[in-house]
Amino acid sequence: MKMKKCIQDVPKIELHCHLDGSVSRDLIKQLAFEQQIVLNEDNLIVSESCESLNEYLQCFDEILKVLQTKDSLKRAVIDVTQQADRDNVKYIEIRFAPFFHMDKGLNLTEIFEAIEEGVDSAIALTDVKVNILVCAMRQQEAEINATLFDYLQQRDSQFVCGIDFAGPEAPFPPTKIESQIQYGVDKGFNLTLHAGECGCVQNVVESIRMGAKRIGHGVAINQDEAVLQEVKKQNILLEICPKSNIQTKAIQDLSELNMTYLLEQDIPFLINTDNRTVTQTSLNAEYELLVEHDLINIQQIKMINQKAVEYTFISDEEQQVLKNKLSNS
Ligand SMILES: [Zn+2]
Repeated sequence: MKMKKCIQDVPKIELHCHLDGSVSRDLIKQLAFEQQIVLNEDNLIVSESCESLNEYLQCFDEILKVLQTKDSLKRAVIDVTQQADRDNVKYIEIRFAPFFHMDKGLNLTEIFEAIEEGVDSAIALTDVKVNILVCAMRQQEAEINATLFDYLQQRDSQFVCGIDFAGPEAPFPPTKIESQIQYGVDKGFNLTLHAGECGCVQNVVESIRMGAKRIGHGVAINQDEAVLQEVKKQNILLEICPKSNIQTKAIQDLSELNMTYLLEQDIPFLINTDNRTVTQTSLNAEYELLVEHDLINIQQIKMINQKAVEYTFISDEEQQVLKNKLSNS
């Protein structure tokens, strides 16, 4: 009990959290009721027998059925922020893929209006500062992703702080989508990339070469000390999502995260939920799991969160404010 309280008391940052996979079950059910959509509730969360990332990703199809209206998107942003607030998160970058929300005819402008309204309300209702990361999808045609980046540039939303490429990594490694990644980087967007979730070390190395400032998951390099040292040298932060990695079978056991080495070597990393609902987790639960397995202690949790401020996609001034908030609370 004492350990849980100590973890709760640490003010935190979260940098890898998907909107669709994190909308609470209650809100999903409420939206389904209002929209008269019949959902298979068993498909909302990952099954215990999940064998792969592909199987894990299937849960999203069910959730996305209710996230096709402006109202639902706005409420989803508020809902996820409120969950983060309960984890004592002070700053979160929530990511989402706009093209998943067009099944019922929403266009990019309507989607971003809804998301921005959601962020405005979420900030007003909680003690959390919120920004948005926009996910292009790896399996998408290049022109469609380019359209998205063109739109983002034109909209110049105050809440969009960077881009990511999500979706199936094995068939679409960074080298295969390099020109698309480059297109986004050339527009000046901060880049974080899902990489190394499918066991391929080279994908992490290539992602860094292409300009990623953070790596989502990065599991494949956890045992590769040479690449980890390169990550440190290039000052790249690893966005680690422990429970999700176990469910997608990216790791078999928490020890594979090699956290002791990361801490000893001062290699930048942060703990994240990935998908609160699909993975059935919270940020506090992720840290509890690690503390229970003696992989990290409370002091180290404070330390990695304070250090992670430097890797947020906000201005130096905003980082300073956040730093003060984290060290004073
Ligand atoms: Zn992810």
